[in-house]
Amino acid sequence: MLPSPLHADGGPDRSWPRANWRALSLTLAGIVATSAGHYLTPPEFLLWHGIFQRMYYVPVVFAAIAFGWRGGLAAAAVSGVCYIPHIVTTWSGMEHYAMEQYAEILMFLVVGAVTGILSDRERRRRVELQRTADQLSRVYRELQNTFEQVKRADRLSAIGQLAAGLAHEIRNPLASIDGAAEVLQAGAEAEVKSETLRIIRQECLRLNRLLTSLLDFARPRRPEWREVNLREVLDSVVELVSHSARTGIRFEAQAPEVPPNFVCDREQLAQVIMNLAINAAQAMPQGGTVRLSIQDNQDGVLIEVSDEGVGVPPEHLDRIFDPFFTTKETGTGLGLSVVHQIVSQHGGNVTARRNPDRGMTFSVFFPQTVGVYPWASRVS
Ligand code: ADP
Repeated sequence: MLPSPLHADGGPDRSWPRANWRALSLTLAGIVATSAGHYLTPPEFLLWHGIFQRMYYVPVVFAAIAFGWRGGLAAAAVSGVCYIPHIVTTWSGMEHYAMEQYAEILMFLVVGAVTGILSDRERRRRVELQRTADQLSRVYRELQNTFEQVKRADRLSAIGQLAAGLAHEIRNPLASIDGAAEVLQAGAEAEVKSETLRIIRQECLRLNRLLTSLLDFARPRRPEWREVNLREVLDSVVELVSHSARTGIRFEAQAPEVPPNFVCDREQLAQVIMNLAINAAQAMPQGGTVRLSIQDNQDGVLIEVSDEGVGVPPEHLDRIFDPFFTTKETGTGLGLSVVHQIVSQHGGNVTARRNPDRGMTFSVFFPQTVGVYPWASRVS
């Protein structure tokens, strides 16, 4: 009996599918039709006999492909069995020609077996590939599930961190206001009263600043894409921060002579540079120089802000972009988070590194916008 093809799990499939019955019928029909050609064609039509002889290869190869080496051998054997009586009855007088026919039958067997072996190997490979693809898609589904879980856990932990940071930031000014209210309630002298009111106002301002930063961070507006002149933005930020900076702080800005016109949100870009410049100035209590530079290249624009300040201790480096991480007395810990958020919205990235001698360098990379925003253009 002809073997059934391998099932997807590697074992033989007990139920014979319709396709197998069809393949078996076609094989047998091919053998019967070829044999009929032999038996019904008179011996003098030698050319036709030569054609029929080779036509046996068609059902043999077909069976080998459909059923493997056993199918190929079985079809070759059946062809031989059908062919031999014709050789015996018709060609016994031509011994040499008859021997050729027997040799051809041997070739049927060889071709059936070899084609079948190759087809079996191919089928096994297909089954293996299918199994690997199934495994891969299972692993992919599992990975996706795990990724979703991690994302959910990450979101929850981010909300927790945010709430904890916020509570901490609000508690300090609240405690000051509460203390000040107590002083006022106790009926303080006019001088103490005015100082206490100043503290209350100062803490209210601090709370207001915190809430403004928090809103910037929590509800960032969508960037309004426009062509901006980077040099002009840089200069205006430098002018603004140098007014409010302590004496002893110098700002140096470097930008290409021909300013690159770049597509981004002008206000947000200015806020990024400003936050970095303010941090740099605040990191230099003894004074020093803040260097701001813009480099334009094929891939995008690199903005760097470096200072000569105290620098970020290595153990804090991977926390400075976390919301509410601050080492300053009156800091909100949201400046760098806002920078990170804006830069990400622009498809860029921001990194911080300690300078070899002293201070920090913050690098912001904005990618080339052409192609990312098809409607945006960039003139350089
Ligand atoms: P904030 O300025 O309100 O503290 P930021 O998010 O802007 O919040 O900064 C977080 C922390 O990162 C700062 O408290 C400070 O410790 C550190 N940091 C940021 N920039 C610098 C810098 N240029 N030099 C040293 N430390 C810095």
